Amino acid sequence: MKTFQDLDNLLSRIDGKGYKAYKEIAGVYRFPGFTVMIDHVQGDPYAAPSRVRVRVSRVDGGFSADMTSAPVRKAALGDFLTRMFHLSATAVAKGGRGIGKGGQILIGRPAQEILDRTAMLVTDADVEARITMGLPARGRGVSGKDAREMFFQELPEIVKRSLFLPALSAEALENHLDTAEDTDALRSQLAANNLAAFVGNGALLPRASGIDPAPLPADQAVLFEAPRDMTVVLDAPHRGRVAGMGIPRGVTLVVGGGYHGKSTLLNALEVGIYNHIPGDGRECVVTSAGAVKIRAADGRQITGTDISPFIGALPMGRDTRAFSTANASGSTSQAANIVEAVEAGADMLLVDEDTSATNFMIRDVRMQRLVAKHQEPITPFVDKVRQLYADYGVSTVLVMGGSGDYFSVADHVIQMAAYRPLNVTAAAKEAAAWGADRRQQEGGEVFGPIGCRMPLPDGISPRLPSGKMKITAPRLREMRIGNRTVDLSDVAQLVEPAQTLAMGFAVHYAVRYMDGRCSMKDVAARVLSDIAMDGLDVIVPYIRGDLACFRALELIAAINRMRLLRVRQAGKEAEQKRGVQT
Ligand code: ADP
Ligand code: MG
Repeated sequence: MKTFQDLDNLLSRIDGKGYKAYKEIAGVYRFPGFTVMIDHVQGDPYAAPSRVRVRVSRVDGGFSADMTSAPVRKAALGDFLTRMFHLSATAVAKGGRGIGKGGQILIGRPAQEILDRTAMLVTDADVEARITMGLPARGRGVSGKDAREMFFQELPEIVKRSLFLPALSAEALENHLDTAEDTDALRSQLAANNLAAFVGNGALLPRASGIDPAPLPADQAVLFEAPRDMTVVLDAPHRGRVAGMGIPRGVTLVVGGGYHGKSTLLNALEVGIYNHIPGDGRECVVTSAGAVKIRAADGRQITGTDISPFIGALPMGRDTRAFSTANASGSTSQAANIVEAVEAGADMLLVDEDTSATNFMIRDVRMQRLVAKHQEPITPFVDKVRQLYADYGVSTVLVMGGSGDYFSVADHVIQMAAYRPLNVTAAAKEAAAWGADRRQQEGGEVFGPIGCRMPLPDGISPRLPSGKMKITAPRLREMRIGNRTVDLSDVAQLVEPAQTLAMGFAVHYAVRYMDGRCSMKDVAARVLSDIAMDGLDVIVPYIRGDLACFRALELIAAINRMRLLRVRQAGKEAEQKRGVQT
């Protein structure tokens, strides 16, 4: 193996030569205490920065075998080291060396969640940071002096500060791993306790702002306190017994005045599918791993989805058992989102009136009098939500401050009053009895069939007209595959663009399983099982540090939103017609 001295000599030799001379430094170098792998060298100072890996053996780094003993601990160790690397790089890398990206030393910046990411690969043997470096230019040529500072001063200092235990707080690291393990343990006790979700006492739910997911400062927040009669105690291996509010499976309604904390509770449940970093405030908020936030998304693509449980005969006789549109309405999009989530395997829906289509949610007794049922294609959610649980075991938590029609279909009603939850189930049932004889149930006896669609590969191409492959995630909820944009603005549970980017590659990878016989759910399951086996690296053509794990539910949601998707429906020979190209 070459050594850092070889790299040093090489940089001296190419100093002042044309920038392309940097290409020569690709390779593997032994540094004191770690290995540097220069995988890809950028072609010019403005191009995507060079891809570099830094590997430290677990033992040299001082990390005990106990820290990598379980997948959840491995992920948490990787997450912690990524955060430390990010902090150290920000402090140490001088940046601004010449034109373009010169001087950058970057690693993906994690959000509030502990995720498995390619930024830091943790195995039993090593930890490996996948970073990018902007190689510095002087004029149009190689700046050997600046590059040497980056490789021999900055990089070793960052690595020393972040990938070696002596420089880290062992206590903070241990707490990080234990917290993740505790959260996993709480989540795994939901099913046995017949719970859909759990919110620990003392949780701090509100966020700093609508665009900042950090916790609201503690002195401004009311900490969560479960109503006595909904209190459940679960066990966490490190924290011990944790008391909090158990939300049972079934239909749960969250009511209360405006600004009393309803949506904040629901938002915390949405991300209760993830483990949160210590200090986040939601470390003991857990939701069933199959929970999906549902919202209206007018304008979305729908391809061959059976929305007939919610939407009946449409004007012009359009078939809603295999419904396609390039421009869904609020209500049809919400219907499709629910049906597709259940098709994909969701076991819990999270719905907020703030982001729902009114005509999908309610149809009150006066409207029933004025507009006859046969004149209204929509069967409102209020008449279907119970059947979803009875027929398919899918629970719902619904925020609804604006209509009492849901009282009669809810198993439990929680009122948020000045950010404190109260169990008002009995009072709500009493209120429901009042006027119960007047509103007609319109949902029939059963929910109705959930379709099973087989995606076809032909509409999915990552190629640009030039033939080049292009997959990017310009925003958290937008991916680009080839020259097509996939709008994920209603896929609420994505938390990092690294997940979105990984899903872009996963969609392309999934094409190998789209043979017209494999269902949407099976295609996603195969992709996820390949990832579970070989890591996220399997879905990309080369190693890159900017990917994070995602659920099958989000991958399927992304496939469903592709404009050129084509599907076969089980039992139907006809292929769905191609969506309108936009
Ligand atoms: P609702 O959905 O009931 O109208 P929100 O959940 O949107 O209310 O909350 C309204 C405001 O109150 C938000 O700015 C939110 O950050 C803040 N808030 C929510 N919960 C708490 C809490 N526990 N402590 C302090 N502020 C809170
Ligand atoms: Mg709200």
